[in-house]
Amino acid sequence: MGPTLPGFANVHSHAFQRLLRGSVQSREPGRADTFWTWRERMYALAQRMDVADLEAAARQCYTECRSAGYTAIGEFHYLHHRPDGERYADPVATSRAMLRAARQADVRIALLWTVYHRGGFGGAALGPRQRRFGTAQLDDVWRALDALAGAVDGRTSRLGLAIHSVRAVPEGWLGPLAEGARGRGLPIHAHVSEQRVEVETCVATHGVSPVGLLAREGVLGPDFTAVHATWLSDADIAALAASGSRVCLCPTTEGDLGDGVPRTAELYAAGVELCIGSDSHAVIDPFSELRFAEYQARAATESRCVLADAGSGEVAPVLRRIGSANGYEALGLTAAGDRVHLDARAPALVGVTDAPSAALMGGHPGLVQKVTLGP
Ligand SMILES: [Zn+2]
Repeated sequence: MGPTLPGFANVHSHAFQRLLRGSVQSREPGRADTFWTWRERMYALAQRMDVADLEAAARQCYTECRSAGYTAIGEFHYLHHRPDGERYADPVATSRAMLRAARQADVRIALLWTVYHRGGFGGAALGPRQRRFGTAQLDDVWRALDALAGAVDGRTSRLGLAIHSVRAVPEGWLGPLAEGARGRGLPIHAHVSEQRVEVETCVATHGVSPVGLLAREGVLGPDFTAVHATWLSDADIAALAASGSRVCLCPTTEGDLGDGVPRTAELYAAGVELCIGSDSHAVIDPFSELRFAEYQARAATESRCVLADAGSGEVAPVLRRIGSANGYEALGLTAAGDRVHLDARAPALVGVTDAPSAALMGGHPGLVQKVTLGP
């Protein structure tokens, strides 16, 4: 038997964005390209997709994920309604499509049903291209989750709740959403402090950072995962650590979007459990995701072996935990023996003494011979 690794968990996915790959790598002459200009192109894509398009894109995306070594997906799903914002006859039709796509691709999925209520801080209305994301009232969240309860088996598929961001969800909803999710045993995820301007506007509006606001409203906790968490203060890191919250880094997407450099070394030193996601799917490669996280931390601290085990000093066991166990926990899924089988005869592994370690720091999806899911 060849070398194996535990199956990787792709904790943060927007499957439809996979269709943007390669088509958003240019900027208008004389104009800076940023997260916000990218978002306009992403919205234009979202406008063109109906239920069947979303399902086909997700099936293809998850199939690619599986072939790269991901065995579990966290789908942060907010395309709920028709492109014009009208409801489908089945209000959770697109969520069901995501669950079907995962079943067809044979990956585990946590469908993180995402709440998106407004266009920005201060109660701005949803823009025309955001209407299909919208949740008009809190009760709609529980109605949707109740409607989906029978569509998941708890083993290969389950539900979770996502708060899109503190931009898109009003302050007064945060506490009730967290309480309702906890009452139902659902993991809670949110985009947090991905862009510097989000932090600045949150401080100007609420007097605290996004992490501070989530802490104040009782959202943080061991069942909470902050996605990105790029622009954090020391107090934010302390609050995440004290509450037992996790952070999901999306290094290739954050690199693609120019989000900034996360404070990975400080988060790890504070004891915050990390996990990974391929988010926009600019790249689907858990090896790159993990390596990039470690390399960014090295560049930021001008030192080597940052995400290293406190006892042995080894990097590989920590990357393995970040890539797998931490991610499964963030999604509320059980790995049940999911494995990635590596091709021991691949040129990249010739002459190495510790193939799993070599794969984690020098590997790529081409080394994945097959993936097996446990019961
Ligand atoms: Zn995202």
